[in-house]
Amino acid sequence: MFVFKNVKKLQQHLSSINDDKRVGFVPTMGALHEGHLSLIKKAQEKSDHVVVSIFVNPTQFDKPEDLIKYPRTLENDLKLLESVNCNVVFTPTAKEIYGDTIQSKYFTFDGLENQMEGKFRDGHFDGVGTIVKRLFEIVKPTNAFFGEKDFQQLQIIKKMVEKHNISINIVGCEIFREDDGLAMSSRNTRLSDEHRLAAPFIYKTIKKARKKFKKNTAKKVINWVKKKFKKHPLLELEYFEIADQKTLKTIIKKDDDKRYRAFIAVFAGEIRLIDNIRL
Ligand code: AMP
Repeated sequence: MFVFKNVKKLQQHLSSINDDKRVGFVPTMGALHEGHLSLIKKAQEKSDHVVVSIFVNPTQFDKPEDLIKYPRTLENDLKLLESVNCNVVFTPTAKEIYGDTIQSKYFTFDGLENQMEGKFRDGHFDGVGTIVKRLFEIVKPTNAFFGEKDFQQLQIIKKMVEKHNISINIVGCEIFREDDGLAMSSRNTRLSDEHRLAAPFIYKTIKKARKKFKKNTAKKVINWVKKKFKKHPLLELEYFEIADQKTLKTIIKKDDDKRYRAFIAVFAGEIRLIDNIRL
């Protein structure tokens, strides 16, 4: 496994790989878990060469303390990547990526950026767009793999490649969960014991909401979820929304031709958890 910090050295290495080889790319912020590994596995199925990046991107954090406290476990990450036969790891510094000015570029994604996470995390998707575009320009993969765990991000990246004519195929990968249903996340390691025990309530509730949505209006389901969380002593609901899977616009009236998804963000203490489910 090759590990590069430097853009030029990474590119030299990648250009030594045969042109007709398919390069699969999995961008991450590290603190790797089985969710990340499931993306790498999918990348391996569809590629001859897999590149994983580990970079905690400062511009996508809306709160400085969240950036400072984000788990960093590089040594362990590299061991894990080696154990799953990853070919190349890119672990740049912020200076290597941004130069002297750590700043986002401004993006529009036809309104996708104004829904859900966009409403609650100021500038988040400008940060995501900036880093992913930069990494795409550096790695130039054939396919890039993103988790449905961050479904809005996945749709935004698809929109970005379409709008900017980037010839990279974006592959969405299913949410990987703990046995108790909690969506795996690097942030889960920061949960207190009692919040960790409480957190599977999130998936349990959205699964029940999916059932209810079959026979009830969206409004009824949304109110039901809000009530459930109001009664919960440890988890605080930030949003629960039912939206069109493609436009991410909040549902107004159920339409049989549309596909819907429910999206949720919850605070477990100071840790913010997100999840979503196809309805
Ligand atoms: P992160 O390191 O959190 O930025 O995530 C890197 C990539 O892994 C993103 O495309 C995420 O959507 C994806 N990912 C994170 N957690 C999961 C999960 N539990 N299941 C599937 N994909 C995930």
